[in-house]
Amino acid sequence: MYGKTSNGRRAFLKATALSAVAMAPGLRGAKAETQANSPDDGFKFEVRRTEEEWRAILTPEEYHIMREGGTEKFNESPYHAEMPEGTYACKGCNLTLYSSKWKKVVDMGFVFFKHAEPNSVLTGLDIFNPYMKKKEPDALTEVHCRRCGSHMGHILIVTKGNMLHCINGTSLQFTPASA
Ligand SMILES: [Zn+2]
Repeated sequence: MYGKTSNGRRAFLKATALSAVAMAPGLRGAKAETQANSPDDGFKFEVRRTEEEWRAILTPEEYHIMREGGTEKFNESPYHAEMPEGTYACKGCNLTLYSSKWKKVVDMGFVFFKHAEPNSVLTGLDIFNPYMKKKEPDALTEVHCRRCGSHMGHILIVTKGNMLHCINGTSLQFTPASA
């Protein structure tokens, strides 16, 4: 029978729902510049680097997540369960994006914030998502750094209707408030 396989697939889908949305291809920050609202609107990220320059300052995993819109493994970042006071900056350009003031620990494998710092992130669209088959076109709100375009994660309804920034800790560098 195929029942076992089907159940296994449902379990897989449930377990990977959050990572799946972040893996979906679409309009990500690092690529947003070439897919702006109009081809001649002149939008450019303030910090721009060649692929070689990005690879020189990022680890292969950081490059995959931040420049290719990848997703870290569940609970990979130690930030997901920590609540120390301080700020979280983009590893690509050191712009402060998040603060512990708005951090929220959610046991769902990633780093969550209620809000970003003012003027710190921009949003894009992840349009294609094979795990969200709906009759109407749908998209997820993707979050990237305002200054360098590096992919951070998504804005999602996570728990009890709360809209949260679901972020790859791999993309962030924490600085304690006392430092
Ligand atoms: Zn940045």
